Amino acid sequence: MNTVATAIDLRAIRAQFPVLDQEVNGKPLIYFDNAASSQTAKAVVDSLVQFYERDHANIHRGIHTLAERSTKGFEATRERVQQFINAGEADEIVFTKGTTESINLVAHSWATTFLKEGDEILISQLEHHSNIVPWQLAAERTGAVIKVIPINNVGEILQEEYKKLLSDKTKLVAVNYVSNSLGTINPVNEMIRSAHEVGATVLIDAAQASPHIKIDVQEMDCDFLALSSHKMYGPTGVGVLYGKRDLLEEMPPYQGGGEMIKDVSFNGTTYNDIPYKFEAGTPNIGEVIAFKYAMDFIDNIGHDVIKEYEHKLLMYANDKLRKIKGFTPIGTAKNKASVISFLIENVHPYDLGQLLDVRGIAVRTGHHCTQPLMDFLQIDGTVRASFAVYNTEEEIDVFCDALESIVKKFG
Ligand code: PMP
Repeated sequence: MNTVATAIDLRAIRAQFPVLDQEVNGKPLIYFDNAASSQTAKAVVDSLVQFYERDHANIHRGIHTLAERSTKGFEATRERVQQFINAGEADEIVFTKGTTESINLVAHSWATTFLKEGDEILISQLEHHSNIVPWQLAAERTGAVIKVIPINNVGEILQEEYKKLLSDKTKLVAVNYVSNSLGTINPVNEMIRSAHEVGATVLIDAAQASPHIKIDVQEMDCDFLALSSHKMYGPTGVGVLYGKRDLLEEMPPYQGGGEMIKDVSFNGTTYNDIPYKFEAGTPNIGEVIAFKYAMDFIDNIGHDVIKEYEHKLLMYANDKLRKIKGFTPIGTAKNKASVISFLIENVHPYDLGQLLDVRGIAVRTGHHCTQPLMDFLQIDGTVRASFAVYNTEEEIDVFCDALESIVKKFG
C-alpha cells in the first residue's frame, strides 16, 4: 500500500469512483483534472438514479407524495450545506447553478443596489474570470471602480499592498480562497478582517477551497461565499451562495419567476422570503438532492485527512517533477492546495496535454480562465495537474515517467 495513504483507505475510496476503473487510449485512466471538475462519488450517482427512477417531482408546490419526497430531499441538502460550511441558518443558503451564478447573483442584486459612482471593488490578480467579469459588468452599471490587488512572482497576494488599497471607498472585496491556476491558498481570514475594518463587504470564491479545506463561514465572518458541487465529488449544475441573513434580506431578487414570489398581480408583486426570493424557476432538484451525498463523502473521510493526504501527494509530485529536464513550476506559494501548474521547455502546453492524453492521463492546459494572471506571468498558459483524494503516488509515478519520455522525444 502507498506510503502516504496510511491515514486513508485508498482502496475503499477508489471503489466509490467506478469511472476511475477504465482504460483511456489503451492505458489505465489517470485523472488529474480535478480542479476543473472532480469525479462523482457512487453514492451521488445512486441518489441521481433513485431520484429519476423513483422520486422525480417538482418541489414546494405539490401536495402529492412524490412532491413531498423531492421537497424534503431538496431542503435536507440545504440543511446539510448549512452544517457543512457552518452557516448560522439554513435560510442563508441559496442554491444556484454554480460558483459563477452565485457571484453573478451578488454582482447584480447586491452590487447594482448598493454601489455608486466612485466606490471601489477590490479583486486580486489571481482571480478566475468568474470573479472578474461579473464585477466589470457591475462597475459598468454603477460607475464603481475595480482595483486589482497585486501578487508576487510565486503567486501570493501582497498583503501589504492589499492593506494600502483598502480605504473608506472600498465597498467590496472579492477574492478566491484557493487559486484554480496556481493552487495558492490565500489568507482569507485576515483579509476579511482587514476589509471589515474599513466597512467593506467581502465575497469569498471558495470553488477550489471547498473540496480541500474545512469551511466555517461564521469563523471566517465572510459576508458572501460561493462554491460549486461539481468540484466536490457532486453533480454539475449545483452551486451555493452563502450570504449573511441581513444582507440577503435587503437585496432585491436576481431573477423573476415562479418560487421567488409571495403574491403576483398586475398591480405589483411581493417577493418570497430568503432563500426562495433568489431561487426563481425549477432548480436542478435531483442534483441538489444528490449533492448531500458528496458532502457526506467528504465528511466521512474528514477535511483534515483529505488536506494532509493531498498535501503529501503535492510534495511527492513536486519532488519528482523537479528532476525532469526543462520542468518549470508556475506558482510556488508557501501555502498551496494540490494543484501543480507547470511548463516544459520546448513543448507547448497544448501538445503536452495531448501527448499525456494518449497515455491515458487527463490534465488541463491553457489559461484556466485566468487570463489576467497569465498576462502578469507573461505566459499564454500552463499545464495543470490537480489532485483529488482518490489519486495515488503510483499515478504520479506514471505521470512523471510519461513526462520523462515526452521530454526525451520532444524536449
Ligand atoms: N472560481 C474558481 C476559483 C474556479 O476554479 C471556478 C471553476 N473553474 C469558478 C470560479 C467557476 O465555477 P463554476 O464553473 O462551477 O461556476
